[in-house]
Amino acid sequence: MSPPTKIEFAPPREVMRIARMLAGAGHGAWAVGGAIRDTLAGLAPGDWDLTTSARPADMRRIFKRTVPVGIAHGTVGVLGKDGRMYEVTTFRRDVETDGRRARVRFADTIDEDLDRRDFTINAVAWNPLSGELRDPHGGADDLRAGILRTVGDARERFTEDRLRVLRALRFAGRFDLRIDDATWSAVRDAANQLGGLSAERIREELYKVLRVPSPSRSLTLYEQSDVLRELYPELQASVGRPATERSASGDVASGAAVPRDVDSWAHAMRLLEVIPAHKRHVRLAALMHAAGSGAGDTSASAAAARRIMRRLKASNADTDRVMHLVAHHGQLPDPAATAPELRRWIRRVGREFVRDVLRLSAADRIASGVEPIGPELAALCRRLRATLAERAPMGPDELAIDGSDLRDMGLPPGPLYGEILRDLLERVTDDPALNDPETLREIVRGVSQLNKETGT
Ligand code: ATP
Ligand code: MG
Repeated sequence: MSPPTKIEFAPPREVMRIARMLAGAGHGAWAVGGAIRDTLAGLAPGDWDLTTSARPADMRRIFKRTVPVGIAHGTVGVLGKDGRMYEVTTFRRDVETDGRRARVRFADTIDEDLDRRDFTINAVAWNPLSGELRDPHGGADDLRAGILRTVGDARERFTEDRLRVLRALRFAGRFDLRIDDATWSAVRDAANQLGGLSAERIREELYKVLRVPSPSRSLTLYEQSDVLRELYPELQASVGRPATERSASGDVASGAAVPRDVDSWAHAMRLLEVIPAHKRHVRLAALMHAAGSGAGDTSASAAAARRIMRRLKASNADTDRVMHLVAHHGQLPDPAATAPELRRWIRRVGREFVRDVLRLSAADRIASGVEPIGPELAALCRRLRATLAERAPMGPDELAIDGSDLRDMGLPPGPLYGEILRDLLERVTDDPALNDPETLREIVRGVSQLNKETGT
């Protein structure tokens, strides 16, 4: 193994303090996992996790403020003086596995603990007090060489816990690693045996993939390994299916002509790359819109998106948002739309979705190789922003009067109220200046007078 190049680990002050307190009580303490891997990869580390010879009961004696995060697995949350929580976990080793979750026992050494970890790049520990890097499986070298491999026999490790198959694809994509041959062959063999994984674990993996700056690398591996076929058959169907040519609709603003040689799946992959990582719903919608018939039929895509989100046991709120975006994707208003037409479009799409629909449409253009924001789309965006800023009513409940005003005017309560308010909304959509209580009452009076006279 080549001598480790000098890496500067920069743990939060609290990590040092926690390590010193454990050492003071006679326990070893190591930082391990994501933070060490990310630092070695030259990235800003996320959460710092510690592993120690101390047992949970010891930790709760040593630290004043603890949270029993997962005592059964040996994990105690230690509240730092910085207000953040640090997870400290007792050394563990696998004893028994069922393909879904490994059952673990406490262990006595850091090396045993590293042996049970999934990939070499995740099995590197750093001692904050001595500065020692513990890397028995050569994870730092693998990271430098750009290789992802399991700790120990790949087939065994995937049989122990099938989630590791998905983790392999995620880490390989996130760090742009080549999956080593033995690990890849085991991934492919395990791909059609993911049935036992819970919806929650599958969904959280997908969400984590979508949080990575460049998610298409991992998703391409999903496809190449047949994991896509197994978990997301609706998306698998988009592989090899010609991408829709939306320009045929004559809808100029969204008219991104997808190159003919690009299939729906490849188009979705490009699309994901140009949507910011923190826009999870927009990314989910970009991915899901590849599902469905592919004939530009957004309602088929929305139905497929719902099926997938339900299967993943996603929350209703997430499911609705994603379906709504899929359904409205690529349906921008005509650049020549009048102000009332723009307001009606916003009413249909929903005020809170306007920005995301625009983002998706702009991404679609970039992904299709069309000039990202042409002058027409730019003008449309400006007009939509200005229209949103008018704060014109977008639903009957946003009108300047409501049912109680109608009652005060002596109108008999009933379905008529809904009719009147919907009619007022149409008028106000044509001219938002009408949305003032007196003006609206005036209109209602006029209409009921007319109805009386004509006997309707
Ligand atoms: P990130 O949180 O950035 O996704 P991470 O490596 O911190 O990456 P976690 O899921 O937080 O991932 O797990 C922390 C560490 O625990 C991993 O680095 C790995 O060493 C170990 N680990 C997590 N899940 C498994 C698993 N299913 N099998 C074996 N080891 C695992
Ligand atoms: Mg982590």
